[in-house]
Amino acid sequence: MQTLARTVRADLSSLATTPSQQSIISNSLSHRDVIIIGAGPAGSSAAITLAKSGLDVLLIDAKKFPRRKACGGCLNAVSVRLMEQLLPESAIHKLWNDSIPLKKFHVFHNQRSIPLEMNQGGFAVDRSQMDSVLVEHAKSLGAEFLSPAMAKLAACDSQLRAVEVVANGVAQTLHAKVIIMACGLGNRAAGPFEQFQQTPAQNSRLGVEAVFDTFPTEYRSGDLSMAIGNRGYVGLTHIGNDRLHVAAALDRTALQEMGPHIAVDNIMRKAGAPRLTQTDVTWRGTPPLTARAASIADDRVFVIGDAARYVEPFTGEGLRWALENGIGVAPFVISAANGWHSQIADNYCRWYRQTIAARQKLCRRLSRGLKRASVRWVAHQALRLHPALADSIIKQLNS
Ligand SMILES: Cc1cc2nc3c(=O)[nH]c(=O)nc-3n(C[C@H](O)[C@H](O)[C@H](O)COP(=O)(O)OP(=O)(O)OC[C@H]3O[C@@H](n4cnc5c(N)ncnc54)[C@H](O)[C@@H]3O)c2cc1C
Repeated sequence: MQTLARTVRADLSSLATTPSQQSIISNSLSHRDVIIIGAGPAGSSAAITLAKSGLDVLLIDAKKFPRRKACGGCLNAVSVRLMEQLLPESAIHKLWNDSIPLKKFHVFHNQRSIPLEMNQGGFAVDRSQMDSVLVEHAKSLGAEFLSPAMAKLAACDSQLRAVEVVANGVAQTLHAKVIIMACGLGNRAAGPFEQFQQTPAQNSRLGVEAVFDTFPTEYRSGDLSMAIGNRGYVGLTHIGNDRLHVAAALDRTALQEMGPHIAVDNIMRKAGAPRLTQTDVTWRGTPPLTARAASIADDRVFVIGDAARYVEPFTGEGLRWALENGIGVAPFVISAANGWHSQIADNYCRWYRQTIAARQKLCRRLSRGLKRASVRWVAHQALRLHPALADSIIKQLNS
């Protein structure tokens, strides 16, 4: 029965784009086991895991894929293993072939640089490629993909949850036993449901990113460089085709006073990092980087990935949390699809606290420390004199 329904359904990414259509999806297909809002690594890894378990999954994204996403694309060794767990060998082989193995970590601070070894099996990937590969695999397992389509949680009834979807000017309400919100920082899909809306932390930094075609030769392929200053930090990595990806976390005031280009240049100049001279780049911003939803599970809704909580700084942990969360939410969603009871939400929250939130604590401490000049100075001296310290931190993040 399920197989027949899947055969009848065509690729919804093309079905959704004809303006003359009255509905996005025929009414007979508008009830699912699970609707996932957001096809980043969190949403698509959940789609893969749930489709493998035989659930009827609809994955929705606001953007047309492949799409660009503000991200350095650094996968640590754990993220690499999770990707290998999710994808078939041929897809993984191509992705790693197109990506750059990370070998060295350069820290710039106070006109000094410390080169550190990083051979833990991490990669710098192109996020548009990585996210598309995950979505394609979810589709090959029977999940349907609707994009570009904007989705928002809507009022529910006692049996099913509802999602309001707008694609190409056509609006429709779709229903599912369970909804997963995986819509990233800012969680724009929470609609009127305040418990799922994100609250940024006080003084949270804002993210900006740009891709450079010309840059100093000191930024080599396989290097991850980080310039640290008192108003933020800047991370730089090659992302293939001889392009340099620059991502920065900036104090809001620095961004307002100087704009992204000068704020980034100021940090790099003061840290002693080779400066970027190309000026015709497009900077893209992000919502506040440290933010959390008040509730991550309630009444047949689960929140995962950045939409649940994100904590800077950029340590290559964000993608790991997103993938771990997408895979780890599956057993709770399967239980909920069989019948909801509030214990499922309690169990999911406990699992999240013990796994993802526990690791986010380390990043919160690091973030607080990096904002204080004295802590930055001590950390820099310690790393300079005892590079083995960095080894143990890098191993921790890859464990
Ligand atoms: C500047 C920057 C650099 C970073 N660098 C790194 C790094 O090097 N390594 C690392 O591990 N992590 C990094 N991160 C963190 C990492 O990018 C995130 O943690 C990760 O992308 C989270 O995945 P996600 O699936 O939760 O959300 P996202 O990847 O943000 O995906 C959310 C998806 O939801 C869609 N969406 C949003 N709203 C709606 C809606 N209403 N309807 C339908 N679809 C919607 C969006 O289009 C998007 O495709 C960085 C973050 C930033 C901001």
